[in-house]
Amino acid sequence: MAISVRDIKATHKRYVLTPWSAQAAIDAPVIVRASGVSLYDADGKRYIDASSGLIAVNLGHGHPHVVAALKDQLDTVCYVSPSLFNDRRAELAEQLAKLAPWHEGARVFYTVGGTDAVEDAVKLARTVSGRHKVLSAYRSFHGSSMGSGTLTGENRRWANEASGISGVVHFFAPYPYRSPFHTTDPATECRYALEHLRAIMLAEDPERIAALLIEPVVGSNGVIVYPEGYLAGVRQLCDEHGILLIFDEVMTGFGRLGAAFGGKRFGVVPDLMTFAKGVTSAYVPLGGVIVREHLASFFDERPMWMGHTYSGHPLAMAAGIAALEAYAEGHLFARGLTIETRLRSHLRALQAKHEILGDVRGAGAFFALEFVSDREQRTPLVAWQGKSMGVMPTFFASLRKHGVYAFGRYNIVHIAPPLVATDDDLAEIAAALDSAIGDLAEAWSKAY
Ligand code: PMP
Repeated sequence: MAISVRDIKATHKRYVLTPWSAQAAIDAPVIVRASGVSLYDADGKRYIDASSGLIAVNLGHGHPHVVAALKDQLDTVCYVSPSLFNDRRAELAEQLAKLAPWHEGARVFYTVGGTDAVEDAVKLARTVSGRHKVLSAYRSFHGSSMGSGTLTGENRRWANEASGISGVVHFFAPYPYRSPFHTTDPATECRYALEHLRAIMLAEDPERIAALLIEPVVGSNGVIVYPEGYLAGVRQLCDEHGILLIFDEVMTGFGRLGAAFGGKRFGVVPDLMTFAKGVTSAYVPLGGVIVREHLASFFDERPMWMGHTYSGHPLAMAAGIAALEAYAEGHLFARGLTIETRLRSHLRALQAKHEILGDVRGAGAFFALEFVSDREQRTPLVAWQGKSMGVMPTFFASLRKHGVYAFGRYNIVHIAPPLVATDDDLAEIAAALDSAIGDLAEAWSKAY
């Protein structure tokens, strides 16, 4: 007997704890199939995946080259202990090192996802530098475990505070639309933010600071593209004080910003880079840290006090190698730049039409829409970091009704389609957004 969609939903809610959510009110479609930019639910309804899952499925769903590589690997070897060597592990590390920006070369430490990549990057930086403190931005997300959750700046940190790691200090990074420094132009915002960061470094004693961890573009906290010169200024401050610079490229890597990595897009070179998500287009879990050679060689004569059972898992390696081939074959990193132009023009048109759409910003295939109740005052439609999502569920329900899935937090929605999205797909996303924003505005005007 076929199980009804209602039964599946009931079973899901009965047995699955869904991340980051109050469980009672969740109602999501049951996705049973996916291909390219499309998700299909158990009723056969199609949705364009306008957020690439959690900004991760950069190749679109079910890319045949990666699927074939996975099947092939299943027939070859499914698991090899990290203490043994493996051909696929070596090959992927070599490919990743070639994408890295350092002339001196690089080595890769594999993890299972982004959270542990961040923790291990920090552990590496602390071990090599012999220093303890780590700086990260308030408006940042770096993972959910107690270490990376402590490094996270926003409210998903709070649950870790009683037992998180010590030595983490947060700073305000630029946010031109809602300046923490009360500025009105990006150049001044950049200058004040760097002065603030310098002051924090001095107040914490720079010689005690091992690393500064930062997303090259703020990801799940609203796709904040830092003003020109900010990341370069951060690099310079780190250099002045011998602080290692870690770019958290978990969301920004693998074409999301129209380049292999965010640092490459902005021409700023870190010392370590974390990655996950797009490395396998999220088909199997994989994360890691790319480490510049002179830091990696620290461990030539000293053991690395870190490791995971699944470090360099052959299935993930096979998926990673095939994903890199698919990105190259389809010129998909460059496609991110074309998507940027098209998306910006669609989204700006929506902003011109809808008063409630206060800000549109982004780079590459990575944009955010920020909804406001008052465009002049920039009042967020839903209080950031509060408990309620206000009228936003109306927006997401309407968007799904119009055949598009997107991921959002509070008053911000992330539009980050797979890099295989065609111009027609982008137009379809924009048309669905148009309707859903209209419904949101109506719901808001009725509610208040
Ligand atoms: N860093 C960043 C920038 C992220 O966006 C995320 C996940 N959204 C993480 C780390 C954590 O990665 P994971 O969910 O794979 O543990």
